[in-house]
Amino acid sequence: MSTATLYLERLSALLQQAVREDAARHGLLPIHIQVLQYLVQANQYSDLPIAIADYFGITRGTVSQTLAVLERKALIVKQADARHGKRIHLKLTPAGMAVLQDSWAERMQRALDMQPDGAALAGTLRDILVALQRLNGQHAFGICRQCAHFRTDGGTTHCGLTGEALATEQTGKICREWATPA
Ligand code: SF4
Repeated sequence: MSTATLYLERLSALLQQAVREDAARHGLLPIHIQVLQYLVQANQYSDLPIAIADYFGITRGTVSQTLAVLERKALIVKQADARHGKRIHLKLTPAGMAVLQDSWAERMQRALDMQPDGAALAGTLRDILVALQRLNGQHAFGICRQCAHFRTDGGTTHCGLTGEALATEQTGKICREWATPA
């Protein structure tokens, strides 16, 4: 095992421990915290139950149970899609957002902000992630404005895959349709 692999293994173990502690503080399971964290970052094509199953590699039944708990605790709400029939989007409530305050993600961000070149580090981590997802045969999720389908023609941003306009706040979110730029 190389030193870099060892560091990544250690970081992964620390993150898992932090998620468990965050969950226990709120009387939740780690998957509940992870799904809340996912939903706050997911774009309009990805805040769906099927995308959660893909992202975490879990069954639709597990997703349904997880969402039922989060809904019962009033941490998420379901919103019908105005244009796509039966599609349901999942949104965090203010109580759901409050659960994520001072979470492992915020502590990690503070650690990253101490690094001299955060952009280069993020690029390296993204490349490692994409390579590992390919090796494992997993669906790649990535940030919208770094996607092969992202378009900025005529001063507007839109998705080249769906043809739909993208609001600025959506372009920093993650998407299940993301594709590696050529
Ligand atoms: S540009 Fe890519 S990441 Fe953004 S919405 Fe389209 S498919 Fe998803």
